[in-house]
Amino acid sequence: MRYRRVVAKFGTSLLTAGSDRLDLVAMSQLVGQVARLRADGIEVVVVSSGARAAGRHRLARRLPEGFTPSRQAVASVGQSQLMQSWDELFDWHDIIVAQVLLTRRDLADRQGYLNARNALRDLLEMGTVPVVNENDAVAMDQVLASRIGENDSLAAFVANLVEADLLAILTDVEGFYDDDPRTNPAANLMSRIERVDVVVENAAKGTGSFGGSGGMSTKLKAANIAAQSGIDVVVTNGHRPGSLLDAAAGKEPGTFFPAVSDRLESRKRWLLANISRTGHIVVDEGAVDALRVRGRSLLPAGVTSVAGSFARGDTIEVRDPAGSLTAAGTANYDSAALAQIRGLRSDRIASVLGYAYGEEAIHRDNLVLL
Ligand code: GLU
Repeated sequence: MRYRRVVAKFGTSLLTAGSDRLDLVAMSQLVGQVARLRADGIEVVVVSSGARAAGRHRLARRLPEGFTPSRQAVASVGQSQLMQSWDELFDWHDIIVAQVLLTRRDLADRQGYLNARNALRDLLEMGTVPVVNENDAVAMDQVLASRIGENDSLAAFVANLVEADLLAILTDVEGFYDDDPRTNPAANLMSRIERVDVVVENAAKGTGSFGGSGGMSTKLKAANIAAQSGIDVVVTNGHRPGSLLDAAAGKEPGTFFPAVSDRLESRKRWLLANISRTGHIVVDEGAVDALRVRGRSLLPAGVTSVAGSFARGDTIEVRDPAGSLTAAGTANYDSAALAQIRGLRSDRIASVLGYAYGEEAIHRDNLVLL
């Protein structure tokens, strides 16, 4: 297999097979493919829509006359049924699923971003399949645009969050066409899009998928975000058996968007662009060696001093004993906490601080050498 960590986005129209309720046959076909990937050692995060469709169907016959439930209420009912279905279907393969509900706010806020990232990383490390959806019950359009609104963008954010190397958007059409295939039978499938430009955007406006909230333009936008951050993207027909396996094998069914930048480079750029000007840390020779030679995380034990102030989630400079810049990374602890635990073994963190955000001062995944 060509990829190591895959984010698979399943749209409503796929999960309902075009009906007005969840379609367990369609779902189990997808589950079987995810299980195959897991068996091959590939980590998979599922981004699942379908909560609102499931809720609508479930509530339909029980609503008091004239009562129209809110979008949030409908999604809450459906989300639990959605998770129950995933749970049962994955259980046949002895795979544990974990529900992760996010909002735009969680991802925009540094702390939330880091917490979600840590949780997802733990879940993957334990061999579970995280199933992500937007937290529709609390994500409101009105509150500081806290709602993402469709799962194509959510999937692109999640792919970034977990540093996936492939984002597979599974929908109910083959991919992107140069015109609307429903009205123009001569429309051609675009098998590869190297660059999302105005021409492609205009073409995508016409080609809609059915039943979900994201049309082809939201998929295009999401594909672009992911590709720009160094993640390959495939948009393909999830009804075709084996389509996820094909995508993960790099077979390029549907429309393929090659990553436009190197993932490491884009992360480096992101980290450096956000570097804190108000504080930094100094580490000992052992830590420099662990970072530079052994490719390890930075532990509090190697931190000799904490200068200035920074918050958990800030990108900070890591300097060697001579004061030269050696790395930069996202601090797992704020400056006050790190000053308390510097030089200590990580198993002491919880007893000194009364809490722990993990044993690293800066996790390897959030660190670049300079
Ligand atoms: N969060 C929505 C749901 O589960 C899906 C949004 C989408 O279809 O993109 O119903």
